[in-house]
Amino acid sequence: MNNLDFPKKYYITTPIYYVSGKFHLGHSYTTVVADIFARYYRLLGSDVFYLTGTDEHGLKVQQAAEDEKKDTKEFLDSLVDYTKKVWKDLDISYDYFIRTTDKEHKKTVQEIAQKMFEKGDIYKGSYKGYYCKGCESFFTDKDVSENKCPIGHEVTIEHEDAYFFKLSKYQDWLLKYIEDNPKFLSPESNKNEFVSFIKNGLEDLCISRHKEKVPWGIELPFDKEHTIYVWLDALFNYYSALGGSDSEKFKQYWPPDFQLMGRDISRFHAIYWPIFLKSIDVSLPKQEFAHGWWMSEGKKMSKSFGNVVYPEEYIEKFGSDIYRYYIVKEMPFGDEGQFSKKSFVERVNSDLVSSIGNLLSRVVTLAEKRNKENGFNFFKDSFAEEIESKIQIIHNHYKEYELSKAINEILQMSYALNKYVQDNKPWDLLKEDLEKFDQVMYVLLESIRILALELSPILTRKWTEIFSQLGLDESNLGHKRLAFTNTMEGKTIKKQGHLFEKIEIKE
Ligand SMILES: [Zn+2]
Repeated sequence: MNNLDFPKKYYITTPIYYVSGKFHLGHSYTTVVADIFARYYRLLGSDVFYLTGTDEHGLKVQQAAEDEKKDTKEFLDSLVDYTKKVWKDLDISYDYFIRTTDKEHKKTVQEIAQKMFEKGDIYKGSYKGYYCKGCESFFTDKDVSENKCPIGHEVTIEHEDAYFFKLSKYQDWLLKYIEDNPKFLSPESNKNEFVSFIKNGLEDLCISRHKEKVPWGIELPFDKEHTIYVWLDALFNYYSALGGSDSEKFKQYWPPDFQLMGRDISRFHAIYWPIFLKSIDVSLPKQEFAHGWWMSEGKKMSKSFGNVVYPEEYIEKFGSDIYRYYIVKEMPFGDEGQFSKKSFVERVNSDLVSSIGNLLSRVVTLAEKRNKENGFNFFKDSFAEEIESKIQIIHNHYKEYELSKAINEILQMSYALNKYVQDNKPWDLLKEDLEKFDQVMYVLLESIRILALELSPILTRKWTEIFSQLGLDESNLGHKRLAFTNTMEGKTIKKQGHLFEKIEIKE
């Protein structure tokens, strides 16, 4: 018997985005991956809360709106419409979309800042150093060279009186916490980087800007001349989205089980975020996971190389399922991903068309021939047990957040099924041995039902097409069991067109 253990509640988040221009591959990857985990745990029965949203304060936003000669709020509203449209086209099943300009969020952040101030963790001082608008981050001499931040944005020198948060006070506590909770920062390489960063000493963090300089922000409750630094504001979206610590939702879902982000913003999640939460006595998220960069056609994605991948173009041409499949298959989770048009075509043609699509088409064609007279009765053999063991392996990969491995195993399942067809030659059995034919068909149909369910978090549309060809209608969608069952008994197979179309390459 398989043990598909799942958490009773599962709270998963993406970063909140601020995107000037169009969403690229990186944003879509983070959001699709989180969506797949959310859907997988929903399938098993967890009470899932999947959060995404938009980061709407700070200098960057304010200037972008000015550049477009738009009112800031109007500018942001159109940005949010665009964001929601992209996520809809990608079938992102978020449960809540938070905006940091929401009234409740602002109120929560002010309450938090007040609490930190009263505790003595925030004090007034004077700031002199660099500020990077691109990162919305302060930098010290050791981070800046030739007037550029570590990522390469231009920085400006700022000198003003400001409020500081006592990061240094929590340095030893954080190191011990990371040591005691080895999975808190993942993957391992990410953890090691931050452990040595913290050991080098944490400097107190400037958490306010003068209101004349950055009016587009949340006012500090104890000094209205200042607005709150965007990261202190932004990180607490994960907290305020649940309605604050007194709400039912908070009791139901806090803390986050899995927080996913790109490497570029992991520092804020690995250091500031746990310390801020500790300061207000709130329990910490279980896991902060930073995934790797994307390379495109062998190079770092950049407008100047002309190799930036925009999801919209792929979704329009091939549909969201194929795009989702490709990007999660191609990035070893936590490592660097390689996007190329050539491998995109190869993956689609070999994995989706040849293995999964052909399998379905072969089996339903054969089944339909016999199915005109009768449905198939439950039957189980050693191959069915092999399929069941694969369900467990896939589950274990999901639990370890090894998504590309889980997908490889799903693909292995389709190879094994194709081989089972080849070995049993059901086209001969149909003429020679109907009893055996019916048994082989039952095993195949039930296994394909399982395969469709395993694919359902990834191929959010195609799996229902598979179900419909298997004669499973809306009422059968409740048959979401990841196990070899009698679901396919007596079903009427309904062969339809090809599941996927082969991509022809035009030179
Ligand atoms: Zn920067």
